[in-house]
Amino acid sequence: QLNLNPYWMPFSHNRYYKQDAAHRVHRMLARAEGSYYWTTENHKLYDALSGLWCCGLGHRHPRLVEAVKQQLDVLDYGTAFQMGTPGVFKLAERIAEAAPAGFEHVFFCNSGSEAVDTALKMALAYHRARGEAHRTRFIGREKGYHGVGFGGISVGGMVANRKMFAAGMLPGVDHLPHTHNLKEMAFSRGEPQWGSHLADELERLVALHDASTIAAVIVEPMQGSAGVIVPPQGYLKRLRELCTKHGILLIFDEVITGFGRMGQPFAAQYFDVTPDLITFAKGVNNGLVPMGGVIATKSIYDTFMTGPDHMVEFFHGYTYSGHALAVAAAHAALDVIAEEQIYPRVNALSKTLEEAVHGLKGEANVIDIRNCQLAAAVELAPMEGKPGLRAIRVFEEALKRGVLFRFTGDIIAMGPTFVSTPEEIGHMAEVLRESIRAAG
Ligand code: PMP
Repeated sequence: QLNLNPYWMPFSHNRYYKQDAAHRVHRMLARAEGSYYWTTENHKLYDALSGLWCCGLGHRHPRLVEAVKQQLDVLDYGTAFQMGTPGVFKLAERIAEAAPAGFEHVFFCNSGSEAVDTALKMALAYHRARGEAHRTRFIGREKGYHGVGFGGISVGGMVANRKMFAAGMLPGVDHLPHTHNLKEMAFSRGEPQWGSHLADELERLVALHDASTIAAVIVEPMQGSAGVIVPPQGYLKRLRELCTKHGILLIFDEVITGFGRMGQPFAAQYFDVTPDLITFAKGVNNGLVPMGGVIATKSIYDTFMTGPDHMVEFFHGYTYSGHALAVAAAHAALDVIAEEQIYPRVNALSKTLEEAVHGLKGEANVIDIRNCQLAAAVELAPMEGKPGLRAIRVFEEALKRGVLFRFTGDIIAMGPTFVSTPEEIGHMAEVLRESIRAAG
């Protein structure tokens, strides 16, 4: 008999999961392959969120598994500081090549949260190296999710992630308004037409704090964790213009959007807006071994290399930065993305997803449907005035029917694997329809 108590589950309702076997039905995973999980009871689940947005190439892709096995025969862990491996140098080059022009340098870490902290620290140190150490303030966005480090929750804008730790927030952080507006943009397909003016709120914050105090603006080009909130047309371009005008760095947190989901290497290319720093994680190696990182422009890197700190130009790093197993998996993932033509495939599949999810319009209790490339969300009306109750019922109904969705509040999120078939996407949407009806 499995003792459930010692394991403190992350971002989970531990009491609900542990107290009653009925609450755990189909929620103990044993095995995975391609777009599917199997539970310990051998119940098959279509993985509608590619793990947690990280396994787009499908679980246990043979190329990745083989690459990691081979790496284990040669080198396990290679000392990260003042040392290197050919693989990590080569990987940085490949990632920089995939990034927009001007991005030439990659710093590695082990998660999205670490990538965000790294990018924030890079921004501070960059301004310091240029003699503008007074630029210390960050601007995030309401409903933003940037992981769980103190930097990330400070610039993040999801209330639940912040309220327990309010005393630990970074000082001086301010937030742009979010762009989620059911009145003006419900049921938009792709980027909503309404809302680009919300980027002008940055002018208000600059007027309030003065540009000379602001180091960086950080946003997810498409907000994932808050429930697929798609940027209004023209919004990101406007943010870029304002950051440039005021000497503020623009950071795109591409932990979800990087390496495939946008049908381009990065959302920067999909939206045709170039930030100054890009964070990544998840898709870089298909979630096989934890890895994250930050891609920096030549001009930012050069500022460090010609800056005042001659010994260690950026005093930051992790024991597992550029871990050999993560690097091996990432090389294989980049190979698979090219060989299996993942970007064109995602572009084609995105149209199927758009049609499938918007086909749920008109279902009772569906109050919004949003999509952006291979990401989508269905927002539900709260049940009995209890936020989240309807979504968890839908989630459980869908598990019974063999689909694993993710829910946040009353939003059901979908991020299918890039290797899904149109039939699987259609089936996923029909299971969601049945589950919404069954949830009552
Ligand atoms: N930033 C974004 C945009 C994310 O979506 C996430 C995770 N969903 C993170 C950061 C944090 O990543 P991790 O959980 O790997 O720390």
